[in-house]
Amino acid sequence: MRVLVVGGGGREHAIVDALRRSGAEIFAAMANQNPGIRRASKDILLVNVTAVDDIVRWASAHRVELAVIGPEGPLEKGIVDALESAAIPTVGPSRAAAQLETNKEFTRELMRDQGIPGAPRFWAFDDLASFEKFVSASDFEFVIKPLGLTGGKGVRVWGDHFTTKEQALAYGKEILTEKIGGVARFLVEEKLVGEEFSLQAFCDGHTLAPMPLAQDHKRAYEGDKGPNTGGMGSYSDADHLLQFLTPKDFEGALETMHKTVAAMAARGTPFKGILYGGFMATKDGPRLLEFNVRFADPESMNVLPILEDDFVETCQRLTEGRLPASLRFARQATVCKYVVPMGYGSRPKAGEQLKVDEDSIRQSGAKLFYASVDEKAGHLYTTTSRSLAIVGIAANLEDAESISEEALAFVAGSFYARRDIGKPEVIQKKVERMRRIREGR
Ligand code: AMP
Repeated sequence: MRVLVVGGGGREHAIVDALRRSGAEIFAAMANQNPGIRRASKDILLVNVTAVDDIVRWASAHRVELAVIGPEGPLEKGIVDALESAAIPTVGPSRAAAQLETNKEFTRELMRDQGIPGAPRFWAFDDLASFEKFVSASDFEFVIKPLGLTGGKGVRVWGDHFTTKEQALAYGKEILTEKIGGVARFLVEEKLVGEEFSLQAFCDGHTLAPMPLAQDHKRAYEGDKGPNTGGMGSYSDADHLLQFLTPKDFEGALETMHKTVAAMAARGTPFKGILYGGFMATKDGPRLLEFNVRFADPESMNVLPILEDDFVETCQRLTEGRLPASLRFARQATVCKYVVPMGYGSRPKAGEQLKVDEDSIRQSGAKLFYASVDEKAGHLYTTTSRSLAIVGIAANLEDAESISEEALAFVAGSFYARRDIGKPEVIQKKVERMRRIREGR
């Protein structure tokens, strides 16, 4: 099977790896030359991944039979509609269904109008005067979210990024005048308190097949400090749940996703692709922070390596509307740690050489997924984005974490990685914190 993969990050390397396990021939379209993807591909196209027409023409010329889209950018541009018009079945939502991610207000209104459980209270603003009125009357903490795509970096949370009403007003004004996220409009949501988790699912328009739960770490530094990033690493547990969650939390999150999928089908824009909910477990149950309409990065690297069902067949069934309601994943724990340039999150230092001992990493039992690196004369250098990811996989979290650390020792150079991700004592703290939140302490 000839498969197009769009995107050149760690997530897409994990997608390519899973496709190769089921015998696919890869045709990869990406902006950067990901060395892992390049080596696994029959052919590559170096292109801005939002250049939909160029990618579709190239895929057609290569007689591609299936496509998997990694990032949200091309989905927002309608790449799935274009590929399907060219008779290439695609794992990804139509432009209309991609609004679940690309238009936060659309999602909030859908949830409100269809009575879908799990949404926080929200308000939308496009003029400063009404925001000023809201702020002066409010007596609770809130979160400000630009509309449009900001790579998870435009959201500001009361207590983390600002602490006064004046600062809230200043940020609202900045969004309106500078059109942060591309539009002069933003959402305000009540601030939720709890632990975040990610639920990814395959979806064929009607049936949802969930993947193991995972937890990302968005903050740049250990102890969840520092600026928000695209994600520094993530872990998943052998039972596919997370220790700080109850089975009811998982069921609640899945119900939110099921009802959303049903509502999308009912309005004539069925959702086909990968639906990934970013949830906050709160004392009142799980609340949806955001939907994403693609695999998560890094959490895709936790779940794809342990998928036991044939990935190509799963993708085909998804595009044909015959997805089974459950898929098999190995009962293994995983810990993913991103290697990033020094200063990532604020002022990343590009151009530092990284030496990667791939054989030793493989022998340690870890998986290596490349992301953004520059390759010059056979040497690898950092860019301003995340460089590569190491994933430890084992029967329990403690061993998976040890393996990830063992493998990280085979990456040399000037880089940063969060060493705390997946450590048993760190997870224990989350369990205790969540217990206190549930007890209202
Ligand atoms: P989003 O892009 O909407 O997922 O937001 C990015 C990050 O901001 C999330 O991962 C949360 O850490 C935080 N966040 C977003 N919405 C809320 C909320 N309503 N309450 C508390 N934190 C939030």
